[in-house]
Amino acid sequence: MSAPFLPLTRPTIDEDTIAGVADVLRSGWITSGPKVKELETKLSEHCGGRPVRVFNSGTCTMEIALRIAGIGPGHEVITTPLSWVATSNVILEVGARPVFVDIDPITRNLDLERIEAAITPATRAILPVDLAGLPVDRDRLYEIARRRGLRVIEDAAQSFGSTWQGRRIGACGDFVSFSFHPNKNITTIEGGALVLNDEREAKLAEQYRLQGVVRTGPDSMEVEVVGGKFNLTDVAARVGLGQLPHLDAFNARRRDLARAYFELLELPGARALGLQLPPPDFTQTNWHMFQVVLPEDRFSLRRVDLMTKMQAAGIGTGVHYPAIHLFGVYRRLGWKDGDFPFAERVCRNILTLPLFPAMTRDDVARVVKTLTGILQTHLKS
Ligand SMILES: *Cc1c(COP(=O)(O)O)cnc(C)c1O
Repeated sequence: MSAPFLPLTRPTIDEDTIAGVADVLRSGWITSGPKVKELETKLSEHCGGRPVRVFNSGTCTMEIALRIAGIGPGHEVITTPLSWVATSNVILEVGARPVFVDIDPITRNLDLERIEAAITPATRAILPVDLAGLPVDRDRLYEIARRRGLRVIEDAAQSFGSTWQGRRIGACGDFVSFSFHPNKNITTIEGGALVLNDEREAKLAEQYRLQGVVRTGPDSMEVEVVGGKFNLTDVAARVGLGQLPHLDAFNARRRDLARAYFELLELPGARALGLQLPPPDFTQTNWHMFQVVLPEDRFSLRRVDLMTKMQAAGIGTGVHYPAIHLFGVYRRLGWKDGDFPFAERVCRNILTLPLFPAMTRDDVARVVKTLTGILQTHLKS
């Protein structure tokens, strides 16, 4: 009998949460209401008491942060070409221009040393991403932002539960955006949260979240900004409330599985294959993903063929992500091959391996055995 299919990732939802969702459905109040408020309170506690508002994605959170910061046409925002395309789409969405700078090939995050050279009089903000949960250097980031008078929108979609110098991501900084998509470390099915600086920003966030509406009395309302429809439902918020207490245990489990990957991939046979492993950080990162970078030109099979063979062996893998600046929309705005060589090389060769809390160390061993087995039979001579 062959082993069951091992997906790239899978959410863990407990029975209490499932029962709690049924209670919300029976309660007569299923869209934004008391559960949303309760989740915001809990998330605010998680973020050191800062104001937090929840939304129906971790994309609109960033768009709304940009709007609150007054960023729009004529402005530039510095970001990374190695992320989910949402990161730079939101910049275009508000009418501003993304300015990509290359990554550090070791951390795979925005290379902070390259930021200053990309700043122009039109630059208004930096939008960094904590890829796979590995935090961007917050000290260096905010030192530059403060000195150059720039806002920061942290795309922390992948780093919920990560820390920087002992403090949780979200507990300090400027705008911090989280996603609770099912692939993230905790989920609300779809959803996201934005950490803000003060009550004024929180009120604006509420307006942008729902058509710009402000209730002014039982029979009246006002509309001051053009908002959208980005509110989270109580059903989704109840899922989040059931997830949050497990965050630390989920992330501890992810960390242990990541350790297992390192132990096996650093054995001499595997090491000889030349895979580039992520930075072995077991204090700050939440291990949202475990990604290897394949050496270019060493194997006689393409990444897609490797993925197909892994799939046939019952193991899901993924690519996070293709380089953003090489998508059609971005090419039409002027970017081209060769603009960001480090990001392009990593994006061509990166492969995400299964990692989620319900996995076991035996599953990790199976992934490594299958992966190294395939690669060993395709070594170029
Ligand atoms: C998941 C993700 C997003 C978007 O989150 P959604 O909730 O799917 O809108 C943005 N940026 C990064 C880096 C992500 O991983």
